[in-house]
Amino acid sequence: MATGGQGDLLGGGPVAPAVRRVRVLLPLPLAEPYDYRVPEGMEAPPGTYVEVPLGPRRLFGVVWQDDADHNGDRVAETKLRPLIRVFDLPPMPAVTRRFIAWVATYTMSPLGAVMRMAVSVSAALEEPRALTAYMRSEGELPDGLRLTPARKRILELLLDGPPRLAADLANDAGCGPAVVRALADAGALTPVPMRALPRFPVPDPDAAAKELSEIQRAAADDLTAKVSAGGYSATLLDGVTGSGKTEVYFEAVAAALRAGKQVLVLLPEIALSSQWLDRFAGRFGVRPAEWHSELAPPLRRHTWRAVANGEARVVVGARSALFLPYPDLGLIVVDEEHEAAFKQEEGVVYHARDMAVVRAHLGQIPILLASATPSLETLANAETGRYARIDLPARHGGAQMPDVTLIDLRRKDAAPPARQWLSPILRNALAETMAAGEQGMLFLNRRGYAPLTLCRGCGHRLQCPHCTAWLVEHRLTRRLQCHHCGYTAPSPDHCPHCEAEGSFVACGPGVERVAEEVANLFPEARVALMTSDTLAGPRAMLNVIEQVRDGAVDLLIGTQVMAKGHHFPLLTLVGVVDADLGLGGGDLRAGERTFQLLHQVAGRAGRESRPGRVMLQTHMPEHPVMQALLAHDRDGFLAIEAEQRRALDMPPYGRLAALIVSGEDEALVDQISSRLGRTAPRTREELTILGPAPAPLAVLRGRHRRRLLLKGPKNLALQPVLADWLAQVDIPAAVRVQVDIDPYSFL
Ligand code: ADP
Ligand code: ZN
Repeated sequence: MATGGQGDLLGGGPVAPAVRRVRVLLPLPLAEPYDYRVPEGMEAPPGTYVEVPLGPRRLFGVVWQDDADHNGDRVAETKLRPLIRVFDLPPMPAVTRRFIAWVATYTMSPLGAVMRMAVSVSAALEEPRALTAYMRSEGELPDGLRLTPARKRILELLLDGPPRLAADLANDAGCGPAVVRALADAGALTPVPMRALPRFPVPDPDAAAKELSEIQRAAADDLTAKVSAGGYSATLLDGVTGSGKTEVYFEAVAAALRAGKQVLVLLPEIALSSQWLDRFAGRFGVRPAEWHSELAPPLRRHTWRAVANGEARVVVGARSALFLPYPDLGLIVVDEEHEAAFKQEEGVVYHARDMAVVRAHLGQIPILLASATPSLETLANAETGRYARIDLPARHGGAQMPDVTLIDLRRKDAAPPARQWLSPILRNALAETMAAGEQGMLFLNRRGYAPLTLCRGCGHRLQCPHCTAWLVEHRLTRRLQCHHCGYTAPSPDHCPHCEAEGSFVACGPGVERVAEEVANLFPEARVALMTSDTLAGPRAMLNVIEQVRDGAVDLLIGTQVMAKGHHFPLLTLVGVVDADLGLGGGDLRAGERTFQLLHQVAGRAGRESRPGRVMLQTHMPEHPVMQALLAHDRDGFLAIEAEQRRALDMPPYGRLAALIVSGEDEALVDQISSRLGRTAPRTREELTILGPAPAPLAVLRGRHRRRLLLKGPKNLALQPVLADWLAQVDIPAAVRVQVDIDPYSFL
């Protein structure tokens, strides 16, 4: 125990009070908290949100440790600066702080950068500004009140009805807010303080539970028992699309609510999941709190505070919701656990599913991973018994799995006409489907009109000026776009190389081009295009979803935004325009990911009583992914994948870490990369080092990129190896070395 003074040992006599110090973590890329002095009369136990001076700035921070836990060098007392103030909030829970520290160590990120993800809206620390509403004062109007027309209108507006804000009243009365305040000063109106945003209502666990099937009931009972018992457990909920996984995990959510706990549900792309929110509201009577990047700032602040003080009981969010400071979290659900979107690739590079398991473990609470196509990582954990496993093998209500056909594009009778993309077989099926009053869907995971545009005259290809990537033509907006950095430019009229006019040809299809083909083939059909470009925000997405559900659309064409959990009763045919698309590139998980995506897309067909059909256009029908989809043999496919990974000691049977070296100066980037290559820990037999090699995206946003890959056995932590390695090379400020533990992207 540090005492800071020596007087207490001597006994007797007046003792100069020890300066109280705390260590405060700032939301900056710092590895360590800084020391501050606690002024007289202020209390700042660990977890307290405080305001501190840093140079000329004022910043918020979190009291990270008591000085007693300080084992580094202390700042001299005379240099200590005092805390400015403490924020009136429940302290950041100890488990959140331990989680932040764990993630920082695991991802090799600065502690402060991880903390910043937990307090990403620092404005939320401030008490929300109280708003004032006005109502009519009781009794008669004050004597001598001058009644101008504007004043009269305001008084009339408030005759019956709730108190209203000055700005709203003034707006409706067609005057300025000063008129409202003058009426209040005269005593004709009474001010009423109002919360800026309504409280989050508590979801009712018993609002509208569905009658579960026997097998669903058993699964739900198993899960609710885990939630009620508390303690850490991880469970894979494995069930085909439509088997009722959501209904089942809602029961676990209900159990946590009954126990008075908070619940976090992580979804891959929450902004796109209005259907999920509606279902939640149907089951629990109210919508949950949402947490994602599209929240308007006031709602974001409001939500953060409501989570921090325990008022928001169920939070559904994208990966960053994991870092919120829940005071009493009792359950985590990760839905669609296999989704690559759970991996954050920028800033602090982490996998939200894996970190969610860590969070559950630190908090000693259950976590549930749900998927129709679990990742090999999760399956391997289920196999070794680290995760429990619950299966829901059949679709609810006896809906059949769709019938899958492979269309072999190499065959003459199956190939589409020149410069078109839909096989006659698929065309016929679309015509039949629409004639029967049912809906079809065409899936192509490629935005825009064409992935590549070249000049017929000289062969010049339009390339992004900042990236190693072709520019994608978007005809709807008449622009070219880089899908990696967002660069856009108007489509040129003449070739920048040979000056030929109107010489550009589009190569290959994007969804816009497929839509054009469909419009020519079926001019009567009502077609909706569903891509992230054509839908500006969740609202637009919801409109299309409703139109499809109500039968106002015959044919839906889209990218993977369309593949997510939507449920369309009339949809009976799914055509995949290019099933091979994800298989190129030699990515470790290319096969697994393509299978998952196509399986999910296929799951859109025939969700109710009408049987569904799925047609996959492919150049490689013999590929294991295609064969597995054809035979509905997920487990067989995954077993082969697992075997291949095991043979190569690849994840989940070995560990990977990537180093991405980048900078604007190519020579310097090369120099640092080869230095890293030379100092790589090559003598250790259990480690393999690949690279340095130019990244497939060798230039991104104007930065040259080289990659190195470190592979080691499953039971070896790579972080200490990486730390030693990196410590041997001086990295100049103009070069960045990004560490990616458990990489998912190899671009
Ligand atoms: P999953 O999450 O596995 O895809 P869902 O929970 O979304 O499955 O269920 C698929 C559909 O079946 C949903 O419309 C859901 O409301 C319905 N459903 C599932 N189980 C039941 C049940 N026991 N009673 C009524 N409807 C159910
Ligand atoms: Zn670019």
